[in-house]
Amino acid sequence: MDLGPLPEQLKPVVAFHGHLCPGLLIGYRAAQAASQALDLGKSEDEELVTIAENNSCSVDAFQQMLSTTFGKGNLIWRDFGKQAFTVIDRQKNRAVRVSFIGDRLKHKGPDGNVDRQAFAKELLSAPQESLFKVEEVAVEPPPEAVIEKSITCARCGEPTQASRTVELDGKLMCRPCAAEVSA
Ligand SMILES: [Zn+2]
Ligand SMILES: [Zn+2]
Repeated sequence: MDLGPLPEQLKPVVAFHGHLCPGLLIGYRAAQAASQALDLGKSEDEELVTIAENNSCSVDAFQQMLSTTFGKGNLIWRDFGKQAFTVIDRQKNRAVRVSFIGDRLKHKGPDGNVDRQAFAKELLSAPQESLFKVEEVAVEPPPEAVIEKSITCARCGEPTQASRTVELDGKLMCRPCAAEVSA
């Protein structure tokens, strides 16, 4: 997808994600909208949490731009299938939810399918108000950070987080093993 010269802030996001696509651009604009609404600076000690209501390309923009990542535990996935993101700033005790409302910017090409290139161009240039609803929301309590012990799976022998083990015939197994045994 060639959209001409990209904004500087977008380049590392594309590098992180691996390609440029409409979904990533939704995330890029959404992360910008959340940053502005929360008045975030570049400081490293911001305690941010992103709650993503989908697990698609857009989420990678939040990982790269706000450093809210799956691995650090400050990216939470809710499987709702919506292009909506809540960013919580724990220091300021504020949260905003940004939800995508720009579906009408999807133009159909001659073949009847969405013209991804035209949609991507719109996503780059459209004013923020036409892309997102941004609302201040209540701050949710922090997710529990639990350090759990590991239990060795009785079948494959791999150490497994205790809460993710399944008891079968009196033996504790990992989920994949339990699924295979009971299949
Ligand atoms: Zn993508
Ligand atoms: Zn196992």
